[in-house]
Amino acid sequence: MAANLLDHDLDGLAAFCEQLGEKRFRATQLFRWIHQKGASDFDQMSDLAKSLREKLARTAEVRPLPVLTEQASTDGTIKWLFDVGAGNAVEAVFIPEDDRGTLCVSSQAGCAVGCRFCSTGHQGFSRNLSTGEILAQLWYAEHHLRTRLKLAPGERAITNVVMMGMGEPLQNYAALVPALRVMLDDHGYGLSRRRVTVSTSGVVPFMERLREDCPVALAVSLHAPTDPLRDELVPLNRKYPIAELLDSCKRYLEAAPRDFITFEYCMLDGVNDSEDQARELVALLRGRVSCKLNLIPFNPFPASGLKCSPRARVQAFAKVLMDAGIVTTVRKTRGDDIDAACGQLAGEVQDRTNVQQRLTRQPIRIHATTGGSRQETR
Ligand code: SAH
Ligand code: SF4
Repeated sequence: MAANLLDHDLDGLAAFCEQLGEKRFRATQLFRWIHQKGASDFDQMSDLAKSLREKLARTAEVRPLPVLTEQASTDGTIKWLFDVGAGNAVEAVFIPEDDRGTLCVSSQAGCAVGCRFCSTGHQGFSRNLSTGEILAQLWYAEHHLRTRLKLAPGERAITNVVMMGMGEPLQNYAALVPALRVMLDDHGYGLSRRRVTVSTSGVVPFMERLREDCPVALAVSLHAPTDPLRDELVPLNRKYPIAELLDSCKRYLEAAPRDFITFEYCMLDGVNDSEDQARELVALLRGRVSCKLNLIPFNPFPASGLKCSPRARVQAFAKVLMDAGIVTTVRKTRGDDIDAACGQLAGEVQDRTNVQQRLTRQPIRIHATTGGSRQETR
């Protein structure tokens, strides 16, 4: 099969060009055609020698992902479902705001972490996406939107990327890092490290490696103030418990482009949303890791058996954190009418594990919190 040029960062593309007997600088021209101009037809690449264009046509391609569906929300959010073969699909979501355009990108078909409140987690894991499949989401969205939004030449549609679609990006590290490099490259999408965010459920060894290899902004999905509860919600916590995770966050800050870690906290009715738990969170975080809290209203889906916290409880929880001096935001849900909100990115991933059964049958054990008396709830 022809090589997919979306699989390479600039160094990789240079190595590919050298294999074809071409000078490395040709790779820069090619890279700019692909990522900055959205070209996939080598004949369009007018400043490349005809002989090189012919060689490329014989050996390589810029392989897009077929778009299965596109849904546009009344609030401007657009969700695409991409076919990644063998009955699997992944989603990307464009979220326009006044001062930015954010693309939420998927890293895997399904996810092996199996968080209780996540519909991707309920589907089980199918496979890792390649670098080319991760970048094809950005490549398509950027160039499609430039035309659709009638942007002036040189204007960008996507100013920020968040790896918050389907999958755990740090469990697909080898494909993730070259994709991040293309996002950051001045000859690629030219995004600053602050504008590219990797969101992780806490894969500590790869947080350590990301700090060395490509320290972009980091969001960590915390969701609970104590290990027993986090063990239930984010099973990976049994391997990398909270203390280890926070130590790793602290080390990450030495290289991070921002001076804080964003902790995501999905608000689940009667599970992790009491004021006592907010106080436990304050005790856990204050003075330990420089951070911001992002409270995410839970987006329910039937198989979860969970409910979203009432608004007033979210506000009360946020107030405890803010009164303690922790910067806290409540995430606006976007694209509600098209199921584009966090954790609703279902795709059509085939379930190849028994994770669905495992997740829906077990009750969540709520361990007593300081001053709290609830032991078990569902
Ligand atoms: N695997 C990574 C990134 C993808 S999930 C991670 O877990 O961080 C992106 C964010 O959406 C995470 O914070 C996740 O906890 C949150 N999320 C998942 N399911 C959700 C749901 N049903 N409602 C609200 N947020 C959800
Ligand atoms: Fe995977 Fe993230 Fe969903 Fe957890 S929340 S199952 S890590 S995608």
